[in-house]
Amino acid sequence: MIRYKLNCKKCNNVFHSWFSSSKEYDKLKKIKQLNCYNCGSIKIEKTLMAPNVTSTKNKNLLTQQDKKFVKIKNKIKEYQKFIKKNFDYVGNNFAHKARALHYSDKKKLKGIYGKASNEEISDLKNEGIETDVIPWFHDKEN
Ligand SMILES: [Zn+2]
Repeated sequence: MIRYKLNCKKCNNVFHSWFSSSKEYDKLKKIKQLNCYNCGSIKIEKTLMAPNVTSTKNKNLLTQQDKKFVKIKNKIKEYQKFIKKNFDYVGNNFAHKARALHYSDKKKLKGIYGKASNEEISDLKNEGIETDVIPWFHDKEN
């Protein structure tokens, strides 16, 4: 037995139906015996297979969020790449180095990046040192 999630193209009704096999589904569809219990339309499309009874609505939502997250993550990774290439890494010394850079007469061309606590960042801000905060993903190979 196989359970399919079916979607009516006419009224957008989503329902589940059991078939003895995927072949049976194809056969029923071919001879137009597959119709929407809501509006009777035969414009039924198989969507996702539902292996168990879970809220598929939430599942779809999660996938969309995951996609969004991956998109954002990729953007950040691109940004990280740029930063790694163009900035000096100062690790946990960020607040100290940013201050030194800010008060130094010699303007360094290269910017710096590193780790700082929220407290340090707000301290820097109070001193007029602008910082950008981005979430940081650690590569597994590092
Ligand atoms: Zn329908």
